[in-house]
Amino acid sequence: MQANIHPNYGKSTVTCACGETFETGSTKKEIRVEVCSKCHPFYTGQRQAMTNKGGRIERFRARYNIKD
Ligand SMILES: [Zn+2]
Repeated sequence: MQANIHPNYGKSTVTCACGETFETGSTKKEIRVEVCSKCHPFYTGQRQAMTNKGGRIERFRARYNIKD
């Protein structure tokens, strides 16, 4: 019978390149990441800003023939 078949799973601190730190469960004590939920473009809203630039409201106005 094998002992220690499961790695020591505990709390670890994740440190992002942007300076954000958060805790997670991992076998490692410390983890360094390039992007996190705070600085990733998907979460910072950059992607959404780009989508809105396409004129979503303008298309809506055009479709329903709304004028100012
Ligand atoms: Zn980050």
